[in-house]
Amino acid sequence: GTYQARVELAFRAKRASKYTDLPPLLVKGIAYHHAGLENVERDLVEHAFIHRHLVAICCTTTLSAGINMPARAVILDDYKQFSVHEKDVADKGRFMRNGNGPTMFRPLPRNTFHQIAGRAGRAGFDDTGTAHILVHSRDEAKWIEEYYFAREGGKADGKLVPAYDPLQSALSNRHVMLEQLLVFANEVQDVTYDDVKAFFAMSFYTHQLGNAGQAMDAALRIRHATARDFIAGAKLPPGKVVGILEANANRVAGAITDTITQHRAECQLTAAGGFSCTCGAKPGGGFRAACDHLRLVVQEVLGRQPGLEKALDGMLASALREECYVDFLIDNGFLDQVGDDAYHCTPFGSLVARLYVYPTIAVFIKQRLLARASNPGDLPFEPWFYQLVKDVQDEHNASYSPSLFHAAWHWMEEAGMDIVLEPARQPIPALRALIPATDDPVYPGDFNNFKADLQRWARVAGKIARHLGMAAIEAGCNELERRIEHGVKAELLPLVENLKGVGRIRGRMLLRAGCKAIEDVQDAHPDALSKATGLPVQACERIINSAREWQPVEDIDHDD
Ligand SMILES: [Zn+2]
Repeated sequence: GTYQARVELAFRAKRASKYTDLPPLLVKGIAYHHAGLENVERDLVEHAFIHRHLVAICCTTTLSAGINMPARAVILDDYKQFSVHEKDVADKGRFMRNGNGPTMFRPLPRNTFHQIAGRAGRAGFDDTGTAHILVHSRDEAKWIEEYYFAREGGKADGKLVPAYDPLQSALSNRHVMLEQLLVFANEVQDVTYDDVKAFFAMSFYTHQLGNAGQAMDAALRIRHATARDFIAGAKLPPGKVVGILEANANRVAGAITDTITQHRAECQLTAAGGFSCTCGAKPGGGFRAACDHLRLVVQEVLGRQPGLEKALDGMLASALREECYVDFLIDNGFLDQVGDDAYHCTPFGSLVARLYVYPTIAVFIKQRLLARASNPGDLPFEPWFYQLVKDVQDEHNASYSPSLFHAAWHWMEEAGMDIVLEPARQPIPALRALIPATDDPVYPGDFNNFKADLQRWARVAGKIARHLGMAAIEAGCNELERRIEHGVKAELLPLVENLKGVGRIRGRMLLRAGCKAIEDVQDAHPDALSKATGLPVQACERIINSAREWQPVEDIDHDD
């Protein structure tokens, strides 16, 4: 980024942000990002980062959770999530003892660790990326090596490769691939099939995919899989036989039978794009995970009736349309097809690329928003939003403890922290039917991460709602995001957002004393306000001064 652009950003930050250290840092190309930032500040910092005006950004996991923010290098200053007191931990299996005393820490889950480290290296910009982890001793380095990495091929002298927890699935690869493709399309706006192919050829995902015996572009799923691609690697296990029930240009059906148990799976593929198998496999489960029964039947048909190859290609293309990344982006409104092999990034595509949210998740949220808009009385807004976040998490294969939802609700209802961190004592009736509370403990670290995630999803949902012209949902999301941030009911927002030294407790005291808006505080007398609120006179003086200095914050330009 240029110096001029940084100076411009610094000026914006000076007008919009309460942090006085942010503008001088921005001039130097440095910024920070954490859950405590206001919306305008976060927008500004993320905008600066995405548009490469920054040399370095110092951030919490907020920046990496579910959202892709690639960088050339990533430095982790710790791999421990948070500490708790030993006596509070019932199940010590997931925790590790701190060498110095009775506190315990939990290492970041392996997949989270590699997700963060994997932000290093921006596809299309860097040849390689590097991730560094700061440690205190050689023993710690050794521990990290053994916990987060494995030796290739299990050999003692094998190359170190990431060790994943079992959750790492073909599905997460699909999320990432679609996202990378969309970010690239947004970058260049007009994209051809050859661009897409060249772009992926230099990404490290190509070698991660390994060689499944398929053509690279089919393996990458940037073009339709043909029948030949589909059967690559299919091999009939010993003791099983393939029978063909029907094979013509309209329908192919067959069965795989176990010669000993006589167990039988029947599958079919039709010209209309239908695909089913008695084993339960269906399209959408992932091309590579698609059922081997169908693969074996297609292989058998190709062998017996080579003339059906074209028809089979067509059947597979429509049955597995979702599986082709380019088609997925076209079908879901991220790309417009403008020629045979030419595509254009749509405004929705650009929005989602800039939000750095997975396209799969954006589609999911969009569908939920459309359903909500067509039936606004479905559920009160707040439980509906919680359900949305829970479902988004399930889509991500990363479920939160249900107690966190109840905790966040209590937090926004201005409950004390004793209730917030022990929500099982007072589960929220409006939420209980959707997300039953458990008596899982809620740790402050988990709660803070959850708050940051809730804010993030409220923001993403709000922006997508705005794009769809749903003003009421956008406003609802915006209000929730701000309430989560401050832990207050909506009526307190004007006070806690604009008065220095006023949080949820003092805000409530002011409101009870009749101050609903900044203007009410501006007109107050310190002695009278002290008497009405019970706050010390000096504190009231400072609050009144802050109200009198208050000026409406200028909104920064949004580029959507
Ligand atoms: Zn099957």
